[in-house]
Amino acid sequence: MTTAEVITIGTELLLGEKVDTNTPFIARALRGLGVNLFRTQTIGDNAERIAALIREALGRADFVITTGGLGPTVDDPTRDAAARAFGLFLEYRPELWEQIKARVARYGRAPTENQKRQAYLPQFALPIENPVGTAPAFIVESGDKSLICLPGVPREMEFLLENAVLPYLQKRYALNEIIRVRTLHVSGVGEAALDERIGDLESLANPTVGLTAHSGIVSIRIAAKAATSAEADAMIAGIESDLRARLGMDLFGADDDTLESAALHAAAGRGWTLACLEAGTEDALRTRLARTAHPAFRGGSRLTVPAEPLATALEKVRQQFATSAALGIVCSIEGEAQKAEMVFITPESTEERSLTYGGHPKNLERWAVNMALDWLRRAALKEAQDDA
Ligand code: ATP
Ligand code: MG
Repeated sequence: MTTAEVITIGTELLLGEKVDTNTPFIARALRGLGVNLFRTQTIGDNAERIAALIREALGRADFVITTGGLGPTVDDPTRDAAARAFGLFLEYRPELWEQIKARVARYGRAPTENQKRQAYLPQFALPIENPVGTAPAFIVESGDKSLICLPGVPREMEFLLENAVLPYLQKRYALNEIIRVRTLHVSGVGEAALDERIGDLESLANPTVGLTAHSGIVSIRIAAKAATSAEADAMIAGIESDLRARLGMDLFGADDDTLESAALHAAAGRGWTLACLEAGTEDALRTRLARTAHPAFRGGSRLTVPAEPLATALEKVRQQFATSAALGIVCSIEGEAQKAEMVFITPESTEERSLTYGGHPKNLERWAVNMALDWLRRAALKEAQDDA
């Protein structure tokens, strides 16, 4: 089992001026290699503190990846910190200076004197050439352990990670396990109810199956570890077909599929076109339906005459957009009660629903929109099934 830690370096990250996107990117890449990432940390631009943290992390993990602090200025502390962590000196590498000069010249500029700083690396460090920026990245090996220092700029970091670091790690740590993940999505079923139907799968060791609930949608994450991606995919396919058999219509999609696309797809399958009307939702229903760019969705509006019954207003919107179906929601919070009134017009009928929500108020809109979309999706699928 190979273990890793990640350290992101930059005072701007600690001040909340920049969001750390490097950690999740590296975490996903390591997961894909089957490496166990045990800890991630962020630290400011202070060479001494960074050196101590690197030493500590390398005491626990097989390798440590840092990002940031490789620029040409004095407050870019990573080279210095890496050298200190191992008790090494910084050493001038003329060949790196030549590369830096050549790269800067390509932009029609002359190198600044402080850029020479970037040609200094800890003794014995292996440079990683950086064709997408000027700061050379590097690796310091010590016994079986490695410290890998990458630039902070996400685009540069990602390029070097994928093209140089991951192949290096695979070789050095004989990483021949890969992890594949697939996520299935269910709507209109509570997490507890779902748990009862598929709980037995949640205790499997490989693939693993885990649930995450978010406002009326539950995602089921299947992760398989194997020697090859084909093998991992086959393991996932086995669990997926079991889940599909158990969940049937409750399952609406996988990976990047959205509930709104699934609902519109079902409606279109029924030959319906759709308009919508809403209040108290920040236009979330219309925004999400519009973002699918599905031709079955024709447009929507906001309920402007609050006293008008939702069904009456919705019928007007349906006529305005000349659609065969229309979906309306009004969300409201009165004291403790969080309510969602919904109306759904199909070519055959007009139905109304009133639901109450017990979750956090900030999730009310999202939940209500998900419930409405789930209603649309199921109604369209059900009628299609009844016809068959
Ligand atoms: P450069 O040679 O460009 O100076 P560097 O290695 O010194 O690279 P930093 O100066 O630490 O990197 O950061 C460069 C840019 O990348 C800054 O805009 C910084 O905010 C951003 N950055 C640094 N670390 C992260 C991170 N973990 N997530 C997202 N952005 C980051
Ligand atoms: Mg910098």
